[in-house]
Amino acid sequence: MNSFEFFNPVHVIFGAGEVSRIGAEAEKLGRKALLVSYRDVGFFGDLPARIHGWLADAGVACADAFLATANPKVSEARDGVAIGRQVGADLVIGLGGGSAMDLAKVIAAGLLYPHDVKQMFHFSHSGAGVRIAPTEALPLLMIPTLPATASEMNPTAVITDEETLRKSYVWEPACLYPRVSILDPALTLSLPAYQTACGALDAISHAVEPFFFSDEATYGNLALHDQLQMGVIRAIYENLEKVLQNPRDLQLRGLMQWSATVGLNGWLTCGVQGWTPMHQMGHVLSSHFGATHGATLACMMIAWLRFFDRRPDNARFVKFSRLLYGKDSPAEAARQLEAYVRHVGVQSRISEFGCTAADLDTLTAGLVDVSFGADGKLASVPKIDRDEARRIYELAL
Ligand SMILES: [Zn+2]
Repeated sequence: MNSFEFFNPVHVIFGAGEVSRIGAEAEKLGRKALLVSYRDVGFFGDLPARIHGWLADAGVACADAFLATANPKVSEARDGVAIGRQVGADLVIGLGGGSAMDLAKVIAAGLLYPHDVKQMFHFSHSGAGVRIAPTEALPLLMIPTLPATASEMNPTAVITDEETLRKSYVWEPACLYPRVSILDPALTLSLPAYQTACGALDAISHAVEPFFFSDEATYGNLALHDQLQMGVIRAIYENLEKVLQNPRDLQLRGLMQWSATVGLNGWLTCGVQGWTPMHQMGHVLSSHFGATHGATLACMMIAWLRFFDRRPDNARFVKFSRLLYGKDSPAEAARQLEAYVRHVGVQSRISEFGCTAADLDTLTAGLVDVSFGADGKLASVPKIDRDEARRIYELAL
């Protein structure tokens, strides 16, 4: 293992019905809440009204910023900051999946940030452009409703700059951890099948990436990490089909929710590879084609397995194939994973997002623009160059 620091201060409250504690928890943190959720908030029925009620009972005023869309945009964050300023918000509540929670984080930091919110993001990894890290944020409470991103228990937010079609992230342990996250699996019972499956595949990818890209030569003994990562992968992989068959089962939904949180709350990546090259490739598919995040990761996992099938440096891909499918063949793992992805109703090829061979150069250029380092490579183990990245996109068509 490499040297590391671990710090995760999020107070997690888990359980069916626990969302009703939002008032008592908010009261400890402020008096004027800004509730950040989706533009299409009608999906939640009377939940926002009930949240208003619990907050009012605790003496906390609440204004709405129902702005988030899938793959949230810089303009939505700017609008949210303007609303927060107008109402004098002193805490921010995120209600929804990763998009809503990430937007809540950006707004909470943006309200104390003297620059345009766009400047807090890593829109270039080659040293080009000026990035200014946020150092403080209003207190954040999260009510996650989609098991996927673990935004409820990590210090990251992802956003798309709709002017440049760049999608990237901010990761700031200093200020972007939520104070409290209420994980109420009852809120996930009505999730549609496609969102459920995409969320699960995203969460699986959060454990697959450190597994693929942490090798013994670089990181030493991985006995603990392999088991932790495979545990999360297996738990979600086996549970997803059951959830889709029994969507109203609270225990299955609860397992899905906590598994997804554990997938990216920091436990799986202490001392090993935490960077996510497959996510970098997936982000370009979302920013250019509007593809759902989890679906892009499904396509990338399959394509990376196929790309590494016959390479001499594919030991981690072979090990993954053996542990999950009992075969020392990344190509066979890709075949079985693709069958699984299709079985749970998610796209397994980027052509299903509208990508064609004519788009490969654009996708590769988008990846290089945001995610390639000054050395002209995508950080990965092994590192990936421009031609190899293009080939992986091609294998995903
Ligand atoms: Zn993800």
